[in-house]
Formats: sequence, structure tokens, C-alpha cells
Amino acid sequence: MAESVELPGRLGILPFRNKVLLPGAIIRIRCTSPSSVKLVEQELWQREEKGLIGILPVRDAAETSTAVGPVLSQGVGSDSGERSSRIQVGTSDSQRLDAKNQQEIIHWHARGVAARALHLSRGVEKPSGRVTYIVVLEGLCRFSVQELSTRGTYYTARISPLEMTKPEMEQVEQDPDFITLSRQFKSTATELISILEQKQKTGGRTKVLLETVPVHKLADIFVASFEISFEEQLSMLDSVDLKVRLSKATELVDRHLQSIRVAEKITQKVEGQLSKSQKEFLLRQQMRAIKEELGDNDDDEDDVAALERKMQSAGMPSNIWKHAQRELRRLKKMQPQQPGYNSSRVYLELLADLPWQNATEEHELDLKAAKEHLDSDHYGLHKVKQRIIEYLAVRKLKPDARGPVLCFVGPPGVGKTSLASSIAAALGRKFMRISLGGVKDEADIRGHRRTYIGSMPGRLIDGLKRVAVCNPVMLLDEIDKTGSDVRGDPASALLEVLDPEQNKTFNDHYLNVPFDLSKVVFVATANRVQPIPPALLDRMEVIELPGYTPEEKLKIAMRHLIPRVLDQHGLSSEFLQIPEAMVKLVIQRYTREAGVRSLERNLAALARAAAVRVAEQEQAVPLSKDVHQLASPLLENRLADGGEVEMEVIPMAVNNHELSNTFRIASPLVMDEAMLEKVLGPPRFDDKEAAERVATPGVSVGLVWTTFGGEVQFVEATSMVGTGELHLTGQLGDVIKESAQIALTWVRARAADLKLAASDKINLLEGRDIHIHFPAGAVPKDGPSAGVTLVTALVSLFSQKRARADTAMTGEMTLRGLVLPVGGVKDKILAAHRCGITRVILPERNLKDLVEVPAAVLANLEILLAKRMEDVLEHAFEGGCPWRQHSKL
Ligand code: ADP
Repeated sequence: MAESVELPGRLGILPFRNKVLLPGAIIRIRCTSPSSVKLVEQELWQREEKGLIGILPVRDAAETSTAVGPVLSQGVGSDSGERSSRIQVGTSDSQRLDAKNQQEIIHWHARGVAARALHLSRGVEKPSGRVTYIVVLEGLCRFSVQELSTRGTYYTARISPLEMTKPEMEQVEQDPDFITLSRQFKSTATELISILEQKQKTGGRTKVLLETVPVHKLADIFVASFEISFEEQLSMLDSVDLKVRLSKATELVDRHLQSIRVAEKITQKVEGQLSKSQKEFLLRQQMRAIKEELGDNDDDEDDVAALERKMQSAGMPSNIWKHAQRELRRLKKMQPQQPGYNSSRVYLELLADLPWQNATEEHELDLKAAKEHLDSDHYGLHKVKQRIIEYLAVRKLKPDARGPVLCFVGPPGVGKTSLASSIAAALGRKFMRISLGGVKDEADIRGHRRTYIGSMPGRLIDGLKRVAVCNPVMLLDEIDKTGSDVRGDPASALLEVLDPEQNKTFNDHYLNVPFDLSKVVFVATANRVQPIPPALLDRMEVIELPGYTPEEKLKIAMRHLIPRVLDQHGLSSEFLQIPEAMVKLVIQRYTREAGVRSLERNLAALARAAAVRVAEQEQAVPLSKDVHQLASPLLENRLADGGEVEMEVIPMAVNNHELSNTFRIASPLVMDEAMLEKVLGPPRFDDKEAAERVATPGVSVGLVWTTFGGEVQFVEATSMVGTGELHLTGQLGDVIKESAQIALTWVRARAADLKLAASDKINLLEGRDIHIHFPAGAVPKDGPSAGVTLVTALVSLFSQKRARADTAMTGEMTLRGLVLPVGGVKDKILAAHRCGITRVILPERNLKDLVEVPAAVLANLEILLAKRMEDVLEHAFEGGCPWRQHSKL
């Protein structure tokens, strides 16, 4: 450390550009410019005793506007004939004197620091032969420049020292302000040193400085080691006053301390995070090692690799493959615990699982075989089967034909689903069913966007994933049961699905890439046509299946249902025989449906009961020869022991036929009426129902149409003391309520003609209320076709004549009494037939619909056509309409 030095009056000057050398600081410089080389040579190298030079800061020309120090320019003064001039000099000597810029003003700082060389080395550059010096300088003490001049190529300055003399120093050291300041500085400096030593693990060497070096020098030394701005360096250099210097230094040391602390905090935070992820990484590595050791290779990375392989073999179109790869890259960058990892994986799994190209191989379609197949599976339905064969024939000739989508419409249990699956079998394709009943959300068809939590693909894409081929026969079941609400309109999504132009690029919101549905064969089913939106209906060809007559049901039961039911219960005709008469009874007394579903259920109940009987009987049956073949080894051992075995254990894989063989019994169980009642309970329906219900005046028999096909609907009317009001009950819609109003108005208007009142003047409702009820109040009813039935009920009520119990009717009536045609005639007639009705009154204009009614049914029914309401009444009452002769209608 430099002691107080004797400064000469004049010093060779080495300019430092934008840099300050503070006393106590050590710096290493390389001198290459001619001026600095000259300076070093003359002032340091060639001197015997150690020479001193002055380091003077200069400001960049560009920074002149903010210059702090005085500008020492030409004419500063010269002695010993030295030339003074305006020269710009660079910070470091590596910058050469620029002759061109000689006229520029050089902003010299007025104060500098005298420095001595601690080390000097001389070098010669090859091949130029230029001499350079490397100098290690130590700053000693401040000086101020009195006058600047040039000596040859370098500058010299007349200077005066700025450091205090010893007595001055001693005086200052007594100053209490100084004492406080130096204490403050020392404590801050100590703190900084301890932090630095802690970080760099240097064993307390720096601390020694604090004890040995005078505090004003320490201030310079500390500040010199900080990276501070040029302005701050200059102001430190200018702090000649010790108190000012100390307070400035304390401030800078403190600032440095704070910045270290902040940096440390940040590092700690980062390190904390780093170490957490590093820990995870380590644990994961260990886990993998353990799994490998155990031969358990299902870890995530393997999974991702497997997923990638699966994706590669999925046969995606190139644009979708690109999209999938992008998503996969994202997945690979994610940690399995990261949110979004799982959803991304599930999505990619779906992409990989979808049958982009995988298709069932189409074989040459054999129409004859297809027909046989349809015939063997379904009884009757000639027209429907014919249409299916036509459809298949067109597909055979033109496989990519864009024919309409077949839509089977009819009540439940008439074979719509099984026909669709027969189409799939005939085409040799896989069959899948998508139930649309109750679907109100468009997202059910199209999926939810992946931004939603728990998002899923729509039912179509999900179904295709399950069936794993792109050309299945897809049954859109109950297409009439879709509805629209705030969540969108599923029907509009279905439009896209069924449109051959659009379904090539079907867009599922979840999938978010187009999927080609054009290879799928769509078939739809519906209970009714009316609810299907017209645009959707337009793309479909409706094939109606009206329901079966009891005779047809009997045939279906005998040929298809009984064998199937027996087989399902492990029985055969050798165990249970259900004679035709009994099946008829089941049809008549236990079912009243258009289809055969409930019939099948009842037959199944019979089969179950028989199975119990057979199983019970079996206990007494000795082991037959067949049982030996089925015996388990344990059993064989027991047999070998000669033990008697009465209970048998049947191995799991034994199928029903073997089971039946096992329990071969002497004679089959033949179902009789007593057993029928025992199993199915007392009869649920009989032909007497209509007669019983129409036993009093005010009741009429109507025919209505519901999703379950046609049905018989009784209408009851009664009157009581009141104020002429009309009450309606039975969950009625607006249309049917209006029909009731029309009916009442019509009857009141013709009260006299119909001999319901003595004269036109008499009010039929005088002091009376009318109540009309549609039984089965839990079932909502609507539609105009109850018009004639309502009038008949009212006329019966007012005339106190009973309507005929064997006659059912349907028809809309206008206010003037005209009978208008209605829909669903075929179903209604079948329903009437089922319920034992023998006469049916129909609107005249519905005559054309009778062609669709099976002849066997018509043969048992008397169809009565009505043009006007009076015609209906004529047929509805025993002995005709006696009032008619008198009416002037
Ligand atoms: P839907 O889809 O119309 O409600 P299903 O196709 O489910 O009716 O038919 C119900 C049951 O009735 C099935 O077991 C089916 O095989 C049988 N079935 C319906 N119609 C016939 C028929 N004409 N011939 C043979 N079985 C039939």
C-alpha cells in the first residue's frame, strides 16, 4: 500500500478515456499507441529510480454535453518551450493519436491520480517491429492539473498535490463527524466483506485490510473495486474532502451490499426451484431403474414411444399426421404431472385409435344369400325386405352410390334394430348402434371442444373408435327423439353427418380435425316421422313398420322368438314346449303392443320357469353317460372310488347345449293355461274391457296414435250442476282441448236437431257443467283426431244412450261437422283389432290407407266410412242415429 508520496511538480500524463484510476487501485494496461509508448519509455522504462506518471480521465467527445470537469484546451499554458495543442486522446493508449481530429476539443478532467508502475514489460510486435509495453500501475494520490502541455508526442502537466498533510490529517481525525462517518463506513465494509468471504470462502484475508489501512484510503480501494459509472468514479476522484469521500464511499458500499443481497435472494429462489425439479428428475431416474430391474416397462416414456408407434400405424392422412406430430411434440415436452398432459395423451390415443383407413374388407355381395339371411331372421315384412334388397343391389352395382339413408319408422319391438343389423350382416360389415334418444346437446354428436374440462368426442367418433373400422353399418337409433335446446341443435349436426357432400370432412369439436364418414353406411330408426326435422327427413327414405297382427305375432313367436328364448335359457324343445294356443293366449291376455318385445319378455318368463323345473327335476336324475365326459378330475377320482354322485359340478366352459344334454329328461314340459297363469299372473287384458267401460252413457271408444303405435282410447264425459263450464282432464295438449270446445259447440248448435233439447231456444248447458276426461291421465295426449270421439261421447251423455262398445272411431271434425282424414290409420286399425274391436269408423278420405292394412286384419273388421259427423253418430249407436230423419242437416 502506498505511503504518502512526494509528488514532483510536473508529470507525464496518460489519458484514461471514460475511466478513472483511484488511489489504491491496481490496473494492468497495454500501451501500443506511439504517444503512450513514448510516455512509458521516457517516464518509466528509462528512469533508474521508479518514476511516476499522472493518470488523467478524459471524456468521450460524444459525452461533451454532460461534461463535468473543466475543459483544458489550447493555451492552457506551456513551459520549457513545450507545444500546447488541441488533441483528442483515447482512454487507453491503444488508441492512436488522430491527426485529423486534432482540432477537436479534448475534455480533460482537472483532477487525476499519480501512479507508479509495479511491473513493466516490453515487447516487439512482429513483423511490424512496433514496440509495446504492458504496465501494471498502482494509483497513489490525487493531484490537480495546473497546466497541460505536450512533450513530443505525449502530454505533461504541471500539478499540485491534493492529499492532506499529516497535521491536517490528524486534525480531521479528531472531528466527531469524521469519526462517525468512518465507523459507519467500516461497519458497512465489514458486512460486505463477510458476505463476500462467505460466498468465496476466502478465510478472512480481506478483513485484515480494515485494520491496517487508513480509512480514507480504504474508501478509495473499496470504490475502485466496484463497477460504477464514469460519473460516479469522477465524483469519487473529486472527493478531496475526507468526510465527503467517506460518506460517498459508504453509500456505494451499501449499494453494493444491497445488490448482492437481492442477487442472493433471487439465486436462492431459483436454486430452490431447480433443486425441486432436479430432485424429481433424480427420483424419476431411480424409478425407471427400479422398473427396468423388475422388468416392468410401462413407464411414461415407453408409453409415449408406444403411442407414437401406434400413431404411425394408424394410417392418418398426411395433414392430420402433421397435426398429431405437433401435439406429440408438445406432449413430449411436458411432465406427466403437468396439467394438460393427460388430456393431451387421451387426445393422441384417440387419434391413434381412430380407424382412419382400417376397413372391413368388402366381399362380393351375394343378394340371394342376403335375402335368405333376412328371411331367416325376420318373419313377414315382405315390402321392407324387398326395399332392403333393392338398397343392397344398388350398393352392389355402385358401391359408392349416394343413395338416401334408410330410416325404419315404427313402434318399439317391430324389428327395426334387428333389420339394421341384418343389413350389416348381409354386407359383411361391422354393426354399431348409436342411441340418440333424449340427445339434446349438440356436443353429444359433435363433441366438446378440448378447452373444456372433461371434454369428450361426440358419439359418432367415439363409436367409430370402438368399432375400429371406418366402414361399419351405423344405426342412428331413435333419431326422432333428439330435441334442441339452449345447448344447440343435434339435428343440425346430424344433417352434416348424413349429407354425403359434407360427411367426408365431418368435424368433431373434440377431434378438431376432419374425419371421413363417407364410408359409413347409415341406417336410422324412429318411432314417428313427425318429430324428425324436415331437412333431416329429406335425406332419408322412410320405411314404415306398422306393427304386427296377432296372427303375425304368433308366427314370429313360433318361428323366431321361442327357439331363441329357449336357446338363451339353455333349453330346447325337448324340455319345454309352448303350444300355439298358449302363445295366442299370451298375445291376447298378456300383451297389447304393436311389436313383439313384451311378447318376447313373457316367453322368456315362461322359459325361466321351465328352466327352474328342469333344474329341480335333474337332482333326481341319475348321471347319464354324457356327464362322465364333463366330469372334473376330482369327480373322476370319486367315481373311481365307486362313490355315488348325485350332484354334478359343471365346468365353466360347458355351453347350453351340453347343459341341456346333461339334464336330459324323460318327457318335455308342455305349457298349459294353468301354468301360464301361475308364471305370468292373472291375465292383464281381455276382450271384455271395452264392453265394461262403455257400459254407461257418456263414454265413447277412440283410436289414437302414440310412439308405441296405435292405441284404443276411451273418452268419458259427464255433467253436473254448474254454470255451463267445460272441464277437461287427462294431460291434454292445446289441439285436443280445442277439439273438445269444437265438439261441444257442435253438439249445442244441433241440440234440437239431434233431439237432445226440445227446441232451439233451450240451452243444453243450462245450470250444468261438462267434464270430459281422457283416462290414462299420466300419458300426455294431443292431436285433432279425437274430434269425432268427443262428439260421440257428448251426444251419448246428453241423449243418455250408450255408444257401441264394439265400435272404435277416429277423425278430425270441423266446426261445421265435416270429418277430416287423420294419420296413423294402419296402426290404429291394428290396435283396434288387438283390443277385440270389430267395427272401426274412419274418415272417408282415409279409405286409401286401408291398402296398407293386412288383409287378415281387415277380414275381421267392419270398416265404416264417414264424411260428416252425422255419419259417425249413425254408426256409433246401436240401431243407427234415430234423430237423423228429423234433422235438417
Ligand atoms: P325395434 O328396434 O323396432 O324396437 P327390435 O329390432 O329390437 O325392435 O326387435 C325386438 C325383438 O323382436 C328382436 O328380438 C327381434 O328379433 C324381434 N322381431 C321383431 N320383428 C321380428 C320379425 N318380423 N321376425 C322375427 N323377429 C322379430
